[in-house]
Amino acid sequence: MCGIVGYVGKKNTVEFLLNGLKELEYRGYDSAGIAVLNEKNSDSNIEVYKALGKLVNLEEKTSEAIKNDFNLGIGHTRWATHGKPTELNAHPHLGEYSYVVHNGIIENYKELKDELMQKGHKFVSQTDTEVIVHLFENFNNQLNDPTIAFKKTIENLEGAFSILLISKADPSKIFFFKHGSPLIVAKGKDEGEALFASSDAPLIGLAGDVVYLEDGVGGVVTNGEIEFFSDDYKWSTLPASKQYAQKDGYRFFMEKEIHEQSTVVVDTMMGRIKDNAINFDEIDESIIEGINEIKICACGTSYHAGLTASYLFERLSKVKCNVEIASEFRYKEPLLTKDTLFIVISQSGETADTLEALKMAKEAGLKTLVVCNVDNSSMTRTADFSILTRAGIEKGVASTKAFTTQTVVLWMLALYFAKAKNTISENKMQEELHALREVPKSLVVYDFIHEKCKRLSKRYLHGHGFFFIGRDVFYPLALEGALKLKEISYLHAEGYPAGEMKHGPIALADPELFTIALMPENLLYDKIKSNVEELSARDSTICTISPIPFELSDDYIRTNKFDHYMLEFFEMLVAVQLLSMEISVRLGNDVDMPRNLAKSVTVE
Ligand code: GLU
Repeated sequence: MCGIVGYVGKKNTVEFLLNGLKELEYRGYDSAGIAVLNEKNSDSNIEVYKALGKLVNLEEKTSEAIKNDFNLGIGHTRWATHGKPTELNAHPHLGEYSYVVHNGIIENYKELKDELMQKGHKFVSQTDTEVIVHLFENFNNQLNDPTIAFKKTIENLEGAFSILLISKADPSKIFFFKHGSPLIVAKGKDEGEALFASSDAPLIGLAGDVVYLEDGVGGVVTNGEIEFFSDDYKWSTLPASKQYAQKDGYRFFMEKEIHEQSTVVVDTMMGRIKDNAINFDEIDESIIEGINEIKICACGTSYHAGLTASYLFERLSKVKCNVEIASEFRYKEPLLTKDTLFIVISQSGETADTLEALKMAKEAGLKTLVVCNVDNSSMTRTADFSILTRAGIEKGVASTKAFTTQTVVLWMLALYFAKAKNTISENKMQEELHALREVPKSLVVYDFIHEKCKRLSKRYLHGHGFFFIGRDVFYPLALEGALKLKEISYLHAEGYPAGEMKHGPIALADPELFTIALMPENLLYDKIKSNVEELSARDSTICTISPIPFELSDDYIRTNKFDHYMLEFFEMLVAVQLLSMEISVRLGNDVDMPRNLAKSVTVE
């Protein structure tokens, strides 16, 4: 999820690792660490430095080490998924004589940890990562062959894992493997030099040829010689510009983050769909005991995720659910009863309005849960329970992947409650889990949809406003589409329940009113069709987003066929994000930093 670097060669190892981590800083992290050694030194002592927060903290700790003559090392910046952001949980993780850095999630870490503990391995952190190094030592103790031990370790891991591992058992080697999270291995410019990084920025200017590793590919570097375990690799060259590399080649962080959605939801779900049920390490079923109502409180995009969830909590878990805008909730003298589960949603966990609402609920003695992207944030520290969305850092001010991952967590939570309260049949549960597993597919950015949005964008730069309309969960999606457009294009846009247009707003309809109609095949298609017909009869300009062409629409963005409305939801989400972004581009706006907005709103 976050960043990895590695080095072997004659240059200053600590300096390379620190500079490399700095290049990865834009990805966000909560802690960082390095492990370094001099393999020529007979007792080959590995030195480890870890620090919380900003890299300057790590730099301070390594100020002495930087002068030393290390020639091999690994480094890491962490975005916590398992265990709080603490120094102990920071990588590299160590066993008796080996060290590992890891990006991703080890899905079967609990089972492995139990087994290894029974065999006498001592664990010190709360992370999933620590099992890797103990598993390696377990095999190496039996086989006395670090390469085979590493291969066996890989075979036993499930989940997402890009790793670098070093060991005193053979201090001339760095073992590497990529599965899920990205990893690049590079030849250095000098003889006997090899470099690693999880994205190309740290390597630009320093490396020669590189291999962008594919999933399932690994190997070992011995004295700077790179050797792969299989033939599935291809040498290529690095891009020339760092700016370009930071955005993974996309024009904007927002565009990069739209593209990332399909992969980050895999992290969001990892280890949480088990044995045909939903499982959260962070909570147990007692959370819903004695609860007759769920109240969700949030702001902005998170509010839209909450509103989407309210349909799912009632439909699937059969719990009464209402959603409030945090700034409204605070001063309305709300009636709070102890049979209510209070859920707050926030990307940063610092949103001032939501945090205050959370404190009010806590004071009133309610059970509280936060759905959040940042561990150790004010909200995760305040709430009784937290579930992390694992979206990684979001740089674009207009939220994209934060919303997606929040919605996926909340959908899973609805199913978790449904199971606990026995409100869902086994068949229905299997259908829902099947759909959940398909979510990454529904979030892929298809070229034909992106191209269509690009082409359409030029037709939507004037007019007196936009109405995004939808029904059921597509109503919050309409709100989210309108908010995206407002945020980055500065055009007036509203999200409206489609069936409500006739109760007032339809008076605005004329050819200069642009209606973006969300028309899923699997939910109330005929109902929304009638609503769109009403608008078409009043000459509104209509763009439909749907898998089914609609003869009355002026413009049409075709989506793929899916058999669950939530999959249509996510695909349409991508379409409205792309449409907003392309309109903003045409208008010449700053897509990543729109005027008047800030990423995390910590004022009331
Ligand atoms: N799951 C690991 C942890 O929580 C790695 C997280 C990351 O990729 O930064 O420490």
